[in-house]
Amino acid sequence: MSNLVSSLPTPDAIMQVKHSLLSNAKRAYEIRLQTGNGGNLSGRVPGTDLIIIKASGCSFDQCTTENLITVTLDGEQVDGDGRPSQELATHLAIYKLRPDVQGVFHSHSPWAIACASFNDTIPTVTLHAKSKLGRIPVLRLPGETTQAKLAVVEEMLTADRNLRVLVEDQHGIFSFASTIELARYNAELVEETAQIAWSMAVSGHLASNREPDA
Ligand SMILES: [Zn+2]
Repeated sequence: MSNLVSSLPTPDAIMQVKHSLLSNAKRAYEIRLQTGNGGNLSGRVPGTDLIIIKASGCSFDQCTTENLITVTLDGEQVDGDGRPSQELATHLAIYKLRPDVQGVFHSHSPWAIACASFNDTIPTVTLHAKSKLGRIPVLRLPGETTQAKLAVVEEMLTADRNLRVLVEDQHGIFSFASTIELARYNAELVEETAQIAWSMAVSGHLASNREPDA
């Protein structure tokens, strides 16, 4: 465990992160950025190596302060009802590589998944997406294991230290930012951009940028 955790957070600091996660989970569910019980989100407790993440199996609209789970950067559970999200390892890998990141948001958003199927990067077809997101690369899994996925995530984040979002093929959006709110805003922007790109593609105004598999 890093010595950051030696400055233990106050209960207020933990509750502040939990309430921020709750409001962003609620918003994502209400606008159908994530339906059902998929997706997950997490936030770092400022100044510590503690991460608070949604529990596995509960939907965004079922999140409570009790079932948001606190873990260390090494994945050790500190409190919370249930088990942390199955995507915990991906969240922790992002926090470890990017000290600037305070929030990670992940959703199974349909337009982004559709666009990822025929592109290597989701085209940033609006000025807003260009300025706020830069690139939206697509991650294609080289294998079934978590380790294989983490290796690609780490490669993508190391290659571009300013990366803000990525879309995993057949899975969904990962967005990471200086606040969980900004991560969720950026995920909304990815989904909106993908919807526009899809409309342009089906009307014949946008070609696929996917390279053939080697
Ligand atoms: Zn997922």
